[in-house]
This record gives sequence, C-alpha cells and structure tokens, in this order.
Amino acid sequence: ERSKLNRLRDTRATTLDGETINLLCNIETPKDMAAVKTVKADGIGLYRTEFLFMGRDVLPDEEEQYEAYRAVVKAMPDKPVTIRTFDLGADKALDRAHARVEPNPALGLRAVRYSLAEPKMFLTQLRALLRASVHGQMQIMVPMLAHAQEIDQTLRLIDKAKAELRAEKIKFNEAVPVGGMIEIPAAALALGMFIRRLSFLSIGTNDLIQYTLAIDRADEAVVHLYDPLHPAVLKLVAGTISAGARFGMPVSVCGEMAGDPEYTLLLLGMGLRNFSMHPSNILEIKQQVLRADLGELAPKVQRILKMDEQARVREAVQRLAL
Ligand code: PEP
Ligand code: MG
Repeated sequence: ERSKLNRLRDTRATTLDGETINLLCNIETPKDMAAVKTVKADGIGLYRTEFLFMGRDVLPDEEEQYEAYRAVVKAMPDKPVTIRTFDLGADKALDRAHARVEPNPALGLRAVRYSLAEPKMFLTQLRALLRASVHGQMQIMVPMLAHAQEIDQTLRLIDKAKAELRAEKIKFNEAVPVGGMIEIPAAALALGMFIRRLSFLSIGTNDLIQYTLAIDRADEAVVHLYDPLHPAVLKLVAGTISAGARFGMPVSVCGEMAGDPEYTLLLLGMGLRNFSMHPSNILEIKQQVLRADLGELAPKVQRILKMDEQARVREAVQRLAL
C-alpha cells in the first residue's frame, strides 16, 4: 500500500474536474525538511517555532532564530513557507524557569497573548523572521487571535522591527505577508476584522474544536467528545473557507483535520484548496484529492452543513467517499 502511495510523489494533486489543490506540510524543526522534500510538498503551511524555545533554560537569541528560520526558507526557495510566531503556553509551556502558575492555561496567557505580554522576546523573533524573509517566499502567521487590537499591536511591532532593521541597513522583504490563525470560535464568527487587516488565514482545527466544544485537547477523560464533525465545528470551518473565497483571501487548514483522509472530501466540498499537514499524511491526502470531483461534492457538502445531528453528518460524510 505504501509503495503504491509512493508512486504519487511526482503526481500533482489535481481533482477529477481539473482543480489543483495545494498540499503543504507542518513542521516543528528545520530537521523536518528532509521528510517534506521526500513527499515533494507544495510548501510549508505551518512551522511551529515554539519548539525552538521549549525544553531549555536559555531562550534562543536573534541569531540562533534567524539561522533556524533561514534554513527552512532556503530549503524551499520557490515555494511558500509560513512561519508561525511562537505559540507558547498551555500544552506547550516554557521550562519552569519562565513558566507561570495559571488557573486555566488554555484560556490564559498563551500564543499571541503571551507574545504581546513579552514584547522584547516577540520583537527579537520578528527581527529574526524579517531577516529570514529575503531568502525565499516566507510569510508570518500569528496564532490564537481573537481581537482586532491583538492584530493591530502585532502589526505595530512588526513595523517597529522593520524600522530597526532599516536603520541598521539590514535587508528584509518589505512586503512580507502577515496572516492569522482562526482557532477561537470568536474569530471564526467575526472574520471581517481579520480579513481587513491580514493577508491570509489558516484554520487551526485542533484548537478550534477544543474551544468550540469546551474540551481540553490534552485531557484523556473527554477525548471521546472531541469531534471534528460536530455541526457547530463544521459551520465555523465552512464559514471561514467561504468568507475567504468571497473576499479573495487565501485560507488553509493546518489542524489535524487537514491530514485525516476521512475529512478530505468534506473540506474540498466546502471549497478548501490549501491543506497543511504532517509530511507522513501528504500522499494519502493526495490520493483522496485525485478521486474527488468538486462539482459533485459542493452541493452534497452544502446539504451536510444544514444537518444538526452528528450521526447523520457522520453517515453523510462517509457516503461522500462512495
Ligand atoms: C491547531 O490548533 O489546529 C494548530 C494547527 O495549532 P497547534 O496544534 O500547534 O496548536
Ligand atoms: Mg493551535
């Protein structure tokens, strides 16, 4: 089965009705680029930079960060590389030296909230990212946004980093695209403020499901309730994808849902054209894309989105594959 899949490495992910889908990879360190190249992915949809900060006492300085980001961008000079600013906190906490005791970490100072609370640390990363941007098609992505002022503060900090680099005569891409993750229900329900300020969106279904269903993604006791096919989750995902299409805003999904072949046809039918996943899932997802007819899927998926019983949704999603 695996060798049959391996033969798809050089095949483009084109649907039966001729639409080419972008299959991108999620990575955690520059070392993951070997696997990305093996499967010939269309780019990096999510580089989780927080792994550079975790499990150590001394945080990486600008130079160390620059080298890591540059290595990834240079490994894919002619393809998009989306680097996410550090998503620290909750299940990805810093070592004890830096950590705080929080009553409710998933609802606390994590991701962009943490970054904005540590502006010096954030600025250092933004400088390193901007410096790496000259080596390819890099874009910056911000996790866990919910408020317009978080976007505005982040954009102001990026402008500050740019001004510093300009004054120091250090090169960077002036037009580096800045995008945001949609992973809080409030964000998916108030997309206008994201679309007006940002260049692209990426749906983080792992957190979007956690926050929509109020289920801790790391708690085994409630894992059976963690369901991507809950009608409320599907409405938020589909609404984000269609708003992106309406406003000409690129949208991807970079949560686990994008790498699970059970959901490929459903997401394609919602209009998704950019999937980002672990490198080991790329060929299996490509196999699903190759058998998909978007013209047939779209109306079927519209009917699924009107259903409000999980069992019926599940059955209808399984029928998409027949
Ligand atoms: C997500 O939440 O879906 C996501 C891609 O981010 P992470 O899993 O790193 O929180
Ligand atoms: Mg997330």
